[in-house]
Amino acid sequence: MGRPPATRLVRGAARAVFSAHIAGERPERQALECFNDALAAAPGERELAWSAAGPRLAVRERPGTRMGAVLAQLAEDGADLLTGSSAAKLSARGAQGCTSLYIRSHAARRWCSDRCGNRVRAARHYADRERSTK
Ligand SMILES: [Zn+2]
Repeated sequence: MGRPPATRLVRGAARAVFSAHIAGERPERQALECFNDALAAAPGERELAWSAAGPRLAVRERPGTRMGAVLAQLAEDGADLLTGSSAAKLSARGAQGCTSLYIRSHAARRWCSDRCGNRVRAARHYADRERSTK
């Protein structure tokens, strides 16, 4: 098992991978590798075990650090998101200056948060008023 990559790197790699997905592009190789290094540092391997009671998902423990486990969980959740039914709902649009990514939980959702939506509406209102006074 390799050393898990640094938290900051995994965070950046996750953002690069998510952003590439939103843009319909392939992520840079370096970002994908970092993401996969985090996955590889998982302290356990899942395996399908079979007992008299039938199949069950078991975890085969491996030595690893607590941070490696946390980052692996983060990367696993990210991989599940990108390959799951919510992948097409991953979005990045927000108010100017907003860097949040979010899941469009319903079709009408346009912003990461109510606060961001309010900022956009306020900016639009202000711009309209500016135009009408000229
Ligand atoms: Zn936002």
